Amino acid sequence: MAHPLPLSCRTFVGGDWHDTAGEPVPRHNPATGELVALAPRNTAEDVDRAVRAAVDAFPAWSRALPAERSRLLHRLADACAERVPDLAAAITREQGKPLDEATGEVRKFVTALHYYAEEAVRVFGRTVPNDAHGFTSIVEQEPVGPVAGIVPWNYPIELIGWKLAGATAAGCTIVIKPSEYTPGCAQVLSECVAAVLPPGVVNLVYGDGETGRALAAHPAVAKVAFTGSMRTGQALLRTVTGVTGLSLELGGSCPMVVTDRADLDAAVAGATRRSFRNAGQICIAINRIYAQRGVYREFVERLGAAADALRVADGMAVPDADVGALTMDETHRRTLDHIADARDRGASVVAGGGPVADLAPGLFLRPTVVADAPDEALVMHEETFGPLVGVAPFTDLDEAVTRANGAPGGLAAYAYTDDTRETFTLARGLDFGNVAVNNVDAGIMNAPYGGRRESGFGSEHGHEGLTSFLQLKHIRLRHGAT
Ligand code: NAD
Repeated sequence: MAHPLPLSCRTFVGGDWHDTAGEPVPRHNPATGELVALAPRNTAEDVDRAVRAAVDAFPAWSRALPAERSRLLHRLADACAERVPDLAAAITREQGKPLDEATGEVRKFVTALHYYAEEAVRVFGRTVPNDAHGFTSIVEQEPVGPVAGIVPWNYPIELIGWKLAGATAAGCTIVIKPSEYTPGCAQVLSECVAAVLPPGVVNLVYGDGETGRALAAHPAVAKVAFTGSMRTGQALLRTVTGVTGLSLELGGSCPMVVTDRADLDAAVAGATRRSFRNAGQICIAINRIYAQRGVYREFVERLGAAADALRVADGMAVPDADVGALTMDETHRRTLDHIADARDRGASVVAGGGPVADLAPGLFLRPTVVADAPDEALVMHEETFGPLVGVAPFTDLDEAVTRANGAPGGLAAYAYTDDTRETFTLARGLDFGNVAVNNVDAGIMNAPYGGRRESGFGSEHGHEGLTSFLQLKHIRLRHGAT
C-alpha cells in the first residue's frame, strides 16, 4: 500500500504504532522542496518505552529456536521484497538518490535479511581441553541482550538492515533510530516488521541527536551499534559508558592509488563510479586519488570527461539518472567550500565546479574533479561527502602509500595496477579495513566490513556481523568420566 504524501511516521514500539506528543518534524524533498514526511521527535520517555519493549521481548526471542528466527527473517525479507517500490520511492523522495539506485539499495537490504536468516542457524559452540580428568568445558555463544541501532541517512534502509538482520539473527532484540533526514522509509519498513516479527523484537524511534543520545545512554541497552560521522562517534565514546558494548562504523577520507601499470579504462570507470555514486555521499566514496606520473595527465583528462558525461537530475523524474540531489544543505555547502579551498590552494577544476543552474533551488551539484590538489587541500584529507574528488601525482609506490595513509580514518582504500608485486605492496601497505584492488566495490555481504583508526571499530557483514551481537559463556561440567 503506497502512502499519500506527506508520509506520516509513528513511533513503532511493541509491535504497534503510537502517537507522540509535540509538533511533528517536517522532511522536505531535497530535489524539489516538497513536504514528503512528518516524523515525531521522540523524548527520553518515548525511548525508555521502546527499550522496555525490547527488554520484554528478549527472553522469548533469544530462546526461540534458531530455525524459527531464520524462518521469520526469511519471511521478513519476502515482506520487504513486496514493498520494494514503496521503500525505494520513500528513499528517493527524502534522500535524493535516483530511483533505480534506491531500488538497488532496497534489494541489497532484502539480500542481507536472507543472508542473516541463513547465518542464524550457524552459531556454534565448542568444547575445550580441561586441566583435570572428569571435566568437560563447553563454550557457548549467547545474544548480548537488547541492542540500539543508530544510523545515518545516506543508505537509510541498507544500514538499518545490517544491524536489524545481524542482531535479530543472533537472538537480540533491537531499538532502531533512523536519521531525522530519512524517517519515511523507516515507517514503511515498520509496516513490514509488524506483519512478520513478534511484538518488541524490532522497535523504531524517531528524532535527532537528542533522541539518539537518550537511546545510547539507556542503562538497559546491552550494546550500541552506531553508523555515522566521526564527530558523533567521538560523542558516543563519552555517552556509552560502563559495561555497554559499542561498535562504531564511522566516516573517513578514502584514497585511490593508480599506478603506471594500471588498466586506465578500468581505473577511470572505477574512479567515476566510486567518487560520484549517491552524489559522493558514501562512507567508502573515493575522496582523493594519487595517480603515478606516467599516467597522471591522461588519467585526469579522462576522469574529467567521464565526470562531465554523468547525468544529474531529479531522481524521481529520471529514475536512471547518474547523480541525484544531495540530501542536506550542510553537505552541499561543504562540497562548495572544499572546491573553493582547493582552487585557493592552486588546484585546477577540470570538471564540474558548482551547482546545476536549471535544477535550482534543488540541492544539485555537478560532479567535480580538481587536479594538482596539494595535500593541504581539504579535499585531500577531510571527508567531503559530496560529488567532489581531488587528484594529485606521485612518483613511487612508497610515497603513494604514505600519502594515502596520511589522512584521518581507515575505512576503505582502492588501488589499480596490473603488476603482482605492486598489488601486494598496496594491499598490505594500505592501512584500511577494506582494500579493493582493480575494483571499487569494497564491501560484499559475506565478508567482514569495518574501519580502523578514526573510522571506528567492529565489523558488519559476513558472519562477524552476527557474532558482534553474541557473547561467550564457558560452562565447566564435572561429570566424572575419564
Ligand atoms: P551523524 O553522525 O550526524 O548522524 C548519524 C546518526 O546519529 C543519526 O541518526 C543522528 O540523529 C544520530 N546522532 C547525532 N548525534 C548523536 C549523538 N550525540 N548521540 C547519538 N546519536 C546521535 O552522521 P550523518 O551525517 O547522518 O551521516 C554521515 C556520516 O556517516 C559520514 O561521516 C559517513 O562517512 C558516515 N557513514 C559511515 C558508514 C560506515 O559504514 N562506516 C556508512 C555510512 C555512513
